[in-house]
Amino acid sequence: MTHQVDRILVVGAGIAGCSAAIAFSQMGKKVTILEKAKEIQFNSSGIFIYSNGLAHFKKLGVLSALIANGFEIEQDENQYFTHTGETIVNTHYPRMQPDIPGILGIKRAELHRVLVERMQELGIEFEMGTTLETLHEIDSIQPIQVEYSNGKTATFDLIVGADGVRSHIRNFINPEIEPTYTGFCVWRSVHQRPKHVTKKIMQMGVGKRVGILPISHDKMYMFGTVVDTDKVWKPKEQWHQYMRHEFSDFTGGEVARLLEELNPATDILYTAVEEIHMPPPWNKGRTIIIGDAAHASTPFMGQGGTMAVQDAVELSEMLQHFENNPDADTQLEQKLQEFSEKRYAMCKFVQDVSRSVGQSGATESLQDCQIRNANMLKYSQSKVDEFYGKLSEFS
Ligand SMILES: Cc1cc2nc3c(=O)[nH]c(=O)nc-3n(C[C@H](O)[C@H](O)[C@H](O)COP(=O)(O)OP(=O)(O)OC[C@H]3O[C@@H](n4cnc5c(N)ncnc54)[C@H](O)[C@@H]3O)c2cc1C
Repeated sequence: MTHQVDRILVVGAGIAGCSAAIAFSQMGKKVTILEKAKEIQFNSSGIFIYSNGLAHFKKLGVLSALIANGFEIEQDENQYFTHTGETIVNTHYPRMQPDIPGILGIKRAELHRVLVERMQELGIEFEMGTTLETLHEIDSIQPIQVEYSNGKTATFDLIVGADGVRSHIRNFINPEIEPTYTGFCVWRSVHQRPKHVTKKIMQMGVGKRVGILPISHDKMYMFGTVVDTDKVWKPKEQWHQYMRHEFSDFTGGEVARLLEELNPATDILYTAVEEIHMPPPWNKGRTIIIGDAAHASTPFMGQGGTMAVQDAVELSEMLQHFENNPDADTQLEQKLQEFSEKRYAMCKFVQDVSRSVGQSGATESLQDCQIRNANMLKYSQSKVDEFYGKLSEFS
C-alpha cells in the first residue's frame, strides 16, 4: 500500500455522515465528525427505511435498536386505495434476510438518537457547531491539513463530505454542481396512530398521492406531494389550511379523516425537493462526498436514506479491501474514483425511477387513473420485485 489511512474526517452528521463515522470506527480508524449545527437537530416527522437500507444499518450494529424504537410494518405490506377510499391492491416489500423487516417506519429524531448513541459507544470525536474552513492536500502521501471554523487545525488521511444538498465539500470537488429544484414540494404531518393502522397506506388520487406510515407505537405520519413551480411563501400558521386544501379531493379512507384532524398545533413540514446531479468523480484527491451531497433525489421511492447508509458502508468496505490487498501502483484516490463510478450508477437509477414515478403521478387525468388502478391490480407486485431485483444487481 502506498500510504496508510489512520485518521478520517467526516463533515456532516446526517444519515450519511453518522453511518460513515460508525463504519470507519468499527474498522479501528480514528474518526472525527464535524457538524455545523450546535446540536443535532431532529426534524420532526418520520422516515421509512426499506430492507436494503436496514441490511446496511445491521452492519453498523444498530438494526435491533432501530426496530425497537421504530415501527415494523405488519406483513411488509403496502395497501393501495383510491382517493375516495376503495381498495385497489396490496403489495409486499421484499426482505433482504428473514430477520430484516421489509419496511420500517421511524421518527427521524429516533433514528438519529440511535446513530448518535452508537457513535458515543465507539468513542467517535464530535465537533458540534463547527465546519471546515480550509483544506490543503499537498500530495497523495502526506496527511491532508485542515482548519476548522473554530480555529483548530488537524491532519487527516481521508475526508468524507456528508454535508447534504448544499454541500460545502462538493464546492471544493466540483464547484459547478448546484442543486436543481424539481418543482415538487412535500407536505408532512404527524398524528396519533390508531391501533388499526399497522401497514403502509397509499391513497392514489388524480394527479396527487397521499401516504400514511406508522413510525412508533403511538405515532404515524401522513405525506403528500404537490407540484409547486412558483414556490410562493406560505405563512406557517396557515399550513394546516393549505395542506387540507391541497388534498381536499381525498374524500374517503384514512387520509380524509387525518385531513380533518389538521389544526394550528399539528406538527407539519412543507419541504421543497431538490436534486443533485453529479457525475463521477465524487472525489478530488482523498476528499470525497457521499449521501445527498452527491445524489439528492426526489423521495418517491423512499430510498435517499438507504443510498446514504449504503454509500457509507460500501466506502468503508472498499477501504478495508484496499488495505488488505496492497498494490504499489494503486493510489487511494483512484479507488475513491472507482467507488464513486459504481455508486453513481445505482444512485442515478434510483433518482431516475423516483423522478419518473413523481412526474407520472402528477400528470394523470381521471381517465388515466381508472386505467392506472386496473393496471395496479395486475402489475404492482411485479413492479416492486423488479425494482428491488434491479437494485440488487448493482451491488
Ligand atoms: C420530503 C422528503 C422525504 C423523504 N423521505 C425519505 C424516506 O422516507 N426514506 C428515505 O430513505 N429517504 C427519504 N428522504 C431522503 C433522505 O431524507 C435523505 O436522502 C437523507 O436524509 C440524506 O442524508 P445525508 O446525511 O446525506 O444529508 P443530510 O440529512 O442533509 O445531512 C447533512 C448534515 O450535514 C450538516 N452540514 C451541512 N453543511 C455543513 C457544513 N458545511 N459543515 C458541517 N456540517 C454541515 C447538516 O447540518 C446535516 O446535519 C426524503 C427526503 C425528502 C426531501
